[in-house]
Amino acid sequence: MGLLALGTPLDWPEAKQVANHVREWGIEQLLAVWNKAKGKERDALLWGDEVEYLVVTYKDGTPKVTLSLRQADILDALARDETLSEEGGCVPDLQLVGGALPIFHPEFGRFMLEATPGKPWGIGFRDLLDVEPNMKLRRKIAKEHMNPEEYPITLTTYPHLGCPGTFTTPYYPPSGNKLRSQFVPDEIANPHIRFPTLAANIRSRRGHKVQVNVPVFKDKNTSWPWKDPTVNYDLHKYPEDDDVRQGAAPDNFIHMDAMAFGMGSCCLQITFQAKNITEGRKMYDQLSPLGPILLALTAATPIYKGFLADTDVRWNQISAAVDDRTPEELGEKPLQNDRWRIPKSRYASNSTYISEDPRLRKEYLDPNLIVDADVKQKLMNGGMDSLLATHFAHLFIRDPIVVFSEDLEKLDLDKSDHFENLQSTNWQHIRFKPPPTGSDIGWRVEFRPMEIQITDFENAAFSVFIVLITRAILSYDLNFYIPIPKTDENMETAHKRDAVLQDKFFFRKNPFPTRYPRPYSANGGVTPTGTTTPAVLSRPPTPTGPVEDEYALMSIDEIMNGSKPDSANNFPGLIPIVESYLDSMNVDVETRCELASYLDLIRKRANGSLWTASKWIRNFVDSHEDYKHDSVVGETINHDLIGAVIGLEGEGKREAKDVDRFLGRFYRPCGGETK
Ligand code: GLU
Ligand code: MG
Repeated sequence: MGLLALGTPLDWPEAKQVANHVREWGIEQLLAVWNKAKGKERDALLWGDEVEYLVVTYKDGTPKVTLSLRQADILDALARDETLSEEGGCVPDLQLVGGALPIFHPEFGRFMLEATPGKPWGIGFRDLLDVEPNMKLRRKIAKEHMNPEEYPITLTTYPHLGCPGTFTTPYYPPSGNKLRSQFVPDEIANPHIRFPTLAANIRSRRGHKVQVNVPVFKDKNTSWPWKDPTVNYDLHKYPEDDDVRQGAAPDNFIHMDAMAFGMGSCCLQITFQAKNITEGRKMYDQLSPLGPILLALTAATPIYKGFLADTDVRWNQISAAVDDRTPEELGEKPLQNDRWRIPKSRYASNSTYISEDPRLRKEYLDPNLIVDADVKQKLMNGGMDSLLATHFAHLFIRDPIVVFSEDLEKLDLDKSDHFENLQSTNWQHIRFKPPPTGSDIGWRVEFRPMEIQITDFENAAFSVFIVLITRAILSYDLNFYIPIPKTDENMETAHKRDAVLQDKFFFRKNPFPTRYPRPYSANGGVTPTGTTTPAVLSRPPTPTGPVEDEYALMSIDEIMNGSKPDSANNFPGLIPIVESYLDSMNVDVETRCELASYLDLIRKRANGSLWTASKWIRNFVDSHEDYKHDSVVGETINHDLIGAVIGLEGEGKREAKDVDRFLGRFYRPCGGETK
C-alpha cells in the first residue's frame, strides 16, 4: 500500500495549498533518481509476490463471525518474535530486500495483513517451486501469532463488511468523523495517521463521501426494483449525510460510502526487477494488456455488505472507494477551479505505454490522456525522453493527498518521499517503479490486477504463470500491444458475472515479432523453434496497416489455450507459449512436472472445467439451506462460507463443497504427493 511516514498530516485545505510544492519537489527527486539510475545495467531478474489477508474471528459452534481489528497486536507479536526478526525484518515497499523468513506488513484495513517472501525470488526455475511452500509458511506463521479463534484468510473482500450490527471485534459504532460512513466505523482503518488522513482527505477533496455502488445480483426472489435496505436516509450528523438524500444510493445497487469498502480488499501482486530501464519499460507495456484477462481469471468477489453482487471482481469498487475527483474533474460541473476533466479515478487501469519499442504505434496511445504540460517540460528539460516524461506527467495531474508538514521544510534529493507521495497513490494496474534512492534495487514493474485466491495453490499458480509469461515475453520479444482504450474496455468486461467464460476480450492476434517466421503451427500450438534466437538481431519494423486488424475479440479460453480450428483467429495461447518457453529452457523433469500442475489449473479455469472462486462462492450461497434466493447472504451463510474458506487451506480441504469443480485434483501429476 506504500510507504509509511510519520509526522503531522495536513487537513485537506492545507494539503491543497502545498500541492504544487510537493509536486515540484517530487519531480526534482524523480529527476535525481533518473539521472542516477537511467544507465543502471545488469540488475538481476528478481521478482517478489505480495499476499494480502483478512483476519477473521471464527468458531465452529458460534454463529457470529467478525473481522478482527487486532492488526497492530498481531504485527507486534510478529515483530517481537526473535526468530523472525533475526532473519527477516519489516521493510515496507521494498519487497526485494530482506532476510529469508517472510516479512509482514500493515495494510489499509485494521483487519488486514500483507506478507511477502523474506528475500526476492531469483531467476531459477526451482525458485518457482518454493513459492507455494513459502506462502503456506507465511499463513502458518501469521496464524501462530494470532488468538486461537483468529484466522488469516485470503478472500478478497469480507462478505459482511459494513453489515448492520456487529461485524468487527471489538465493536465500534459507525459514523466517525474521519470516514463519516453510515456503515463502517473510523476504527476500521489502520490507525497509523496516514490511513485515516488518506480517507478523510479523499472525501474532503471530492466534496462528498465516496460512492461505491455495485449492481445487485437479481435472483428469482429479489424484489425489483431493489432498494438497499441497509441505507439510512434519516441521519443528520454530518453534511455528508445528505449524500443519500441527493441520490448517492440508486435503486438496484448495493450502496457503500467509505474507502474501506475498496481498500479493505485483498489482492495478489507480483513485482519484477528488470535488468535495466529498457527492459522494465518493455515489461510494463507488454504486461498491461494481460491485466484484465488475469483479473477475470482470478475473479473472487461476488458479495458485498451481505448481498450477492452482479459483478465478480473487486477492481471498480476500489476505484470508486478512492476516487477523489471533484465535480469539475468528473465533468459534472463546468471547469472553474480545477485544471482538467479527468476520465479515471486514481485507482484505474493504465493510461500510458512507455517502451521505446518501435512496435509501439501512436494509434495505441490513449487519446484522452491528461498530462501536466509543465511537469512534462520540466522532466524533459532534465533529460527525460518524451514518452516517459508523459507517463510521469500523467501521474502528476493528481494532488498529493497525505502531506506531512515536517516534510516541507527542506528538499532532500537523497530521498524520494515527495515523488512516492504521488506515485504510491496512483494505483494503476501496472506500476513502473524507479529504483529507490540509496539502495541497490533496480527498475521494477509491479503487476497489480489479480484478485487474491482462497488457497496458496492458486496463489502460487498465478504467481508462477505471471513470472513465466514475463520470461517468455522477454525471451521471444512478444508483442501484446493493443490500443489502451481496448484494455480499459476489457477491464470493464472483466467485472461481468462469469466473464471468464461468458465474455470476449480484445486481444492481439499475432504476438510474435514480425522479423522471425511465426514459431507457430496452426492448431498445433507453439513449436520450440525460434526460442533461442538472439534477442535483438535487428530492430523490428514499425508495423503498418490498420490497427483494428491487429486485434480481435477472443474468449479467455482462446487467449489462454489457443484458437480452436474453427476460430477466425490463429492465436497460439498464452499457456502453450509458456510451455514452449519451458521446452526451450531445459527445465529438469521434476520441476517441469510440478510447474505443469499450476499451468493445468489456469488452463482449466480458462476453459471452464474448473471454477473461479467467485463461481464457487456463488454456488455455495445458492445451495445453502438458509438462502432464500433473494440476494441476501445472511449470518449463517456467511459463517459457513468463512468456515469453508478456512477449511480449504487446512484439514477440511478434501471435504469442502464442490472442491473438485473448484480446484480439481489434489495430486501433482508427477510426484503423486497431495497438495
Ligand atoms: N489491496 C489493494 C488491491 O486489492 C492494493 C493495495 C496495494 O497496492 O498494496 O488492489
Ligand atoms: Mg498491499
